[in-house]
Amino acid sequence: MPKPCSICHHPNVAKINAAIINGTSYRDISGRYGTSKSALERHRPHIAKALAKAQKAVAKRDQAIAEKQETATAIQEAVQAGTLLERLFQVHRDTREIFKEARGAKDHTTALRAIARMEKQLELEARLLGELKDTTPPAPTIDLSQLSDEDLGHLEIVIERATIRGRSEVPPAAADQPIALEEAKVT
Ligand SMILES: [Zn+2]
Repeated sequence: MPKPCSICHHPNVAKINAAIINGTSYRDISGRYGTSKSALERHRPHIAKALAKAQKAVAKRDQAIAEKQETATAIQEAVQAGTLLERLFQVHRDTREIFKEARGAKDHTTALRAIARMEKQLELEARLLGELKDTTPPAPTIDLSQLSDEDLGHLEIVIERATIRGRSEVPPAAADQPIALEEAKVT
């Protein structure tokens, strides 16, 4: 059985390897690290293996770091997206609540304001979400088609009544929407 290499197990093996690669004489290395010239000669062929091993370890470590960062970024993005989505839904719920209450109280001005606000908020949140996901397409234009059919039905009635009464102005945002704003049918 061959004797194990004393340099490979030397506490300063990395420094010795570097010195050999740098062309430092065996005599100088021996003087510095208390090894023998013959031991260094025997060890020389082991350097390539040691370097490959070190390289592999570094690559593995770098990969681990990259994966960790990737995961952290993904989690952070998911959290941010989740927060935004939660806010989006909350605003949607709140505004819907206001809309319903206003409609119940026949407060059409407030109902229309709630709709306009919902639209604005949806637009903002959609833009934020779009930026977060780093998508190239421009911020999606949210229109009232985002509302459910039921809401749209209510909305049409509300707008129609408001128009007939002439009590409140239809907000420009709502007026631009592709909603069939029927002519006031005053009979
Ligand atoms: Zn060796």
